[in-house]
Amino acid sequence: VNFQDELFLLDCGEATQMQMRKYNIKFQRINHIFITHLHGDHYLGIMGLLFTYHLLGREKTLHIYASPGLRDIINLQIHLSGCSLVYPIQFHPLNHSLSEKIFENDKIIVETIPMIHRIPTSGFIFREKQKLKNIRIEALADENPSHDDFENIRRGADFISPNGKIYPNDDITVNPPPSRSFSHCSDTLFSDSLVKYIKNSDLLYCEATFSKDKADKASEKFHCTTEDAAMLAKIADARRLIIGHFSARYEDIDLNSLLLESKNIFPNTELAIEGSVFNL
Ligand SMILES: [Zn+2]
Repeated sequence: VNFQDELFLLDCGEATQMQMRKYNIKFQRINHIFITHLHGDHYLGIMGLLFTYHLLGREKTLHIYASPGLRDIINLQIHLSGCSLVYPIQFHPLNHSLSEKIFENDKIIVETIPMIHRIPTSGFIFREKQKLKNIRIEALADENPSHDDFENIRRGADFISPNGKIYPNDDITVNPPPSRSFSHCSDTLFSDSLVKYIKNSDLLYCEATFSKDKADKASEKFHCTTEDAAMLAKIADARRLIIGHFSARYEDIDLNSLLLESKNIFPNTELAIEGSVFNL
C-alpha cells in the first residue's frame, strides 16, 4: 500500500523482493510490514528482505506486525547466521482473536480483522482519518485570520472578526473529500462475522482461492471461493473488490471465468494480476 509515498507491505511471500525490483517499487521506503499468518506463501520471503536491508545499510527502524512465532523464526535465523542487523527491528505481536488498532499516524490508522483460517490469521484495514475542511479564501478576503484561526476554521469553528462580525463555518469552508478505506482479507473462510469490520470499504481485497464448483474444497481448506469473496463485498457494501490468491493446484486456471463468477454477484470486481496498480 502506497499512502503519500510511504509504503506498507502486506505479506511477504517467496520472491517478493524480485517482484518489487521488477515493478520498480522503492522498497527502501517500507517501514511497516504486516504479515497475515504463518503459512509459507505469506511470509517465506521476509528473511531475504531483512538481510537485503542489512546489506544496503538501512538505518531506519523496521516495524513488523505478525504472529508472535515470527519473532522466534527471525531471531533464530539471525542468530545462526552469526550476524547482527545494522538496523533495528521493532516487532509487534498480533492477537489474531480480535480486532485492534495496530498503527496510527496523523493521516491513517491500521486495524486488524480476525480471519477464520486453519491457523491464527489477521486481515488488515487501512482507514484514512477524517480530513480537515478546506477554507474558501475568497470568503475571508476582507479579514486577516491568524494561523490559529485557519486551523480552528478547518476543524469546523466559525470565524469572528475583530469587530465582531460572525462568519458561519459553512459559509467559509467546503467539505474535504471523503476519507478512504482499504480492507485486505487473506486467508479466510467466508463468514458474516467479517462484515462489521470491512463495512463500506472503498476497496476490498479478498482471496478467492477456489472457483465456485470447488466450494467443498474451499470450506475444507478454510478458504473463499470466487462467489464467497463477491458475497462478502456485496453484504459489506464495498465499492470495489479485488480477488486474488488463486489456487495453483489446477494446471489450466482460467482467470476470466473466475472473474465472471465473482462479477455475477458483485459486478465491480477486478483480478489481482501481478503488477497491477489500483488507485483509490
Ligand atoms: Zn493460509
